Amino acid sequence: MLAARWSARGAALTALAALATATSATAATAAPADRPGPSPAPSSASAQSAAALGGVDYAMWQRDVTAALDGARSYIEQRTARAEGKRLAIVLDIDNTSLETDFHPFWEWPTPAVKPVRELVRYADARGVGVFFVTARPGILHAPTAINLATAGYPVDGLYVRDLPDLFEEVSAYKTEKRAEIEAKGYTVIANIGNRSTDLVGGHAERTWKLPDYDGKLS
Ligand SMILES: [Mg+2]
Repeated sequence: MLAARWSARGAALTALAALATATSATAATAAPADRPGPSPAPSSASAQSAAALGGVDYAMWQRDVTAALDGARSYIEQRTARAEGKRLAIVLDIDNTSLETDFHPFWEWPTPAVKPVRELVRYADARGVGVFFVTARPGILHAPTAINLATAGYPVDGLYVRDLPDLFEEVSAYKTEKRAEIEAKGYTVIANIGNRSTDLVGGHAERTWKLPDYDGKLS
């Protein structure tokens, strides 16, 4: 089902990719990472999208995300206070972790940030922590995804999408490999944040924070 969803969404996003690339300079100017424009509240179209998710309410989701992030900020604060010369990093899933993907139809691209997550990420970035995104999105979506993250106001030190060989392995194994690659660059991954267990299993992170997926209703 997820693959089918991505097939449809991917086709639409691919069509947008050329346009997005052409307008990326404008987008970057209009919404630099440190001063994003106001994020739109979910529209009526978004409400329809949410309704299609089987009753996942946007306001409830936002509250649940905030609750699920409990302790993350203080951990980053403590951990960066004793970095001991190490390069620290956090790793994030994108869909319904960093971006409000399932609450907006694709034509509302770019997708807004999940505000509590963006706030946490900016805090980590301000304390010198590297910010890496690891997504199951296919490689063809690298450019529009990078532009979306920047437009949504995220600092980005690295973005991993699934290249062709990665599409043939389990998402959890692919994501684990990417965290290992980040470690191989010399980083210590202090936090891994995602909304599905496949984002979080496999180690290569000191701590994990699980955001809601409501039994698979959110990708
Ligand atoms: Mg997700």
